[in-house]
Amino acid sequence: MTATERTLRAGIRGRPLIDGLVRLLGPSKVIGEHPEDLLIYEYDGAVDTATPDAVVLPDDTADVAALARFCHEHGVPIVPRGAGTGLSGGAIPVEGGVVVSFARMSRILEMDVANRRAVVQPGLINLHLSTAAAPHNLHFVPDPSSQKACTLGGNVAENSGGPHTLAYGVTTNHVTGLEIVLSDGTIVRLGGKAEDGEGYDLIGAFVGSEGTLGLVTEITVKLTPLPEDKRTILAAFPTMDQASASVSAIIASGLVPAAIELMDQLATQAVEAAVGAGYPLDAGGILLCEVDGLRDGLDELASRIEAICRENGATTLRRAQTVLEREKLWAGRKGAFAAMGRLAPAYYVQDGVIPRTRLPDVLRTVSEVSKRHGLRIANVFHAGDGNLHPLVLFSDMRELERVHEAGLEILTACVEAGGSLTGEHGVGMEKNCYMPLQFRAEDLALMRRVKTAFDPADLANPGKIFPTPSRCREFQLHATR
Ligand SMILES: Cc1cc2nc3c(=O)[nH]c(=O)nc-3n(C[C@H](O)[C@H](O)[C@H](O)COP(=O)(O)OP(=O)(O)OC[C@H]3O[C@@H](n4cnc5c(N)ncnc54)[C@H](O)[C@@H]3O)c2cc1C
Repeated sequence: MTATERTLRAGIRGRPLIDGLVRLLGPSKVIGEHPEDLLIYEYDGAVDTATPDAVVLPDDTADVAALARFCHEHGVPIVPRGAGTGLSGGAIPVEGGVVVSFARMSRILEMDVANRRAVVQPGLINLHLSTAAAPHNLHFVPDPSSQKACTLGGNVAENSGGPHTLAYGVTTNHVTGLEIVLSDGTIVRLGGKAEDGEGYDLIGAFVGSEGTLGLVTEITVKLTPLPEDKRTILAAFPTMDQASASVSAIIASGLVPAAIELMDQLATQAVEAAVGAGYPLDAGGILLCEVDGLRDGLDELASRIEAICRENGATTLRRAQTVLEREKLWAGRKGAFAAMGRLAPAYYVQDGVIPRTRLPDVLRTVSEVSKRHGLRIANVFHAGDGNLHPLVLFSDMRELERVHEAGLEILTACVEAGGSLTGEHGVGMEKNCYMPLQFRAEDLALMRRVKTAFDPADLANPGKIFPTPSRCREFQLHATR
């Protein structure tokens, strides 16, 4: 169904929609009476905006299912939303409809320490889970830098990663069960606490589907023992080339650190101004590397990493001596995006992935793009995964077209280097037009058939992932509906 067809069929917006939702769920769960109350739901962490017709705050799965049945009956799009920290416009209601905020479904339903599992609601904040599991010497591994704010539902939808997913895997590797509500209101349970399920891996299909297959209302995750100890190393290099070469050399040596993060000089300047993490300001590139596990042998691993960095030209090597020092080093990295406010009022973050060995080439291209467009670009990223995050800085929305062009050139370079358009932030409405850079029409059509199997009426977060004729015409790339 096209957006136009849906609009024609829908016939329920504005006052009739709000009244219908209030009759269904009660006034305390519906926002939309006053249009200004909808404004904060126009945004997420990216740059696109669109206003929802209404926002609903369900208390439980039954509310979500009732809402989905209502929206299905009336042809209204349904757009899930966690904390709105997404960086690809995933929670933005690009085709209107009802935004479902999971803010009130934020409980830990069960902490099963013996089986190392937790059953949680989707609105639970990522860090709250690890905080609750810590007294049991357990934690939830995926740790996006936004973990103080982002939700488990958002993590599942985006298949989020984080600095420490290099050795332990991203969200999909830590989810064993899901309860989902399909766009027609059907409640489906996939998996449970066991490691493997029979039949098709539908959890694998759902994780990373960005709300386009349905709404997740309950999540069963693995909890992992906290490592006995860690060693965190800061290595500073005169150039980004040397820092990138060290990343490849560390992995090629057979070591798999828990994290390898890289930051360029511009990012370091911002971090030092905002956080004061103690990074050397004169370095061209800074590597933050962590090894963890059993205490015995960690010092030797750290020494091997330091030796590799030295061979590749590191001028400063510092190993955190106390927990406080380690936390300070990480506070710098995890606060890096927010620190960009010290350099410019706005930034547009890219999320390309490349084979690690191509880091020096693609980073040179990023620097050329920066010069060509006259835009400052800071780099801070998960280097061990080859997951780049160039942050294109700008001051004024009138620069946005140029900023988008720079972003497209960077992502094209990533795809041409044998990489992909997104590592962890998702496609959303920001990169859906670019999908044909990486996928053939046949590939996209197959993905569309998966979407249709879950959501035949195309009401679950429409306008995301797949190129749409309405928004992608200017790219002259094929759309799939
Ligand atoms: C400063 C900063 C640092 C970040 N660092 C990282 C990082 O290191 N790694 C990383 O991977 N990401 C990172 N992100 C991106 C973002 O935080 C993650 O994508 C996160 O998982 C989004 O969670 P959220 O709760 O904010 O989701 P939202 O932004 O609200 O939504 C994201 C997507 O999930 C869908 N969704 C939300 N809830 C549900 C649900 N219950 N059912 C179905 N779909 C749902 C939405 O429709 C949308 O498509 C960062 C963002 C910021 C602002």
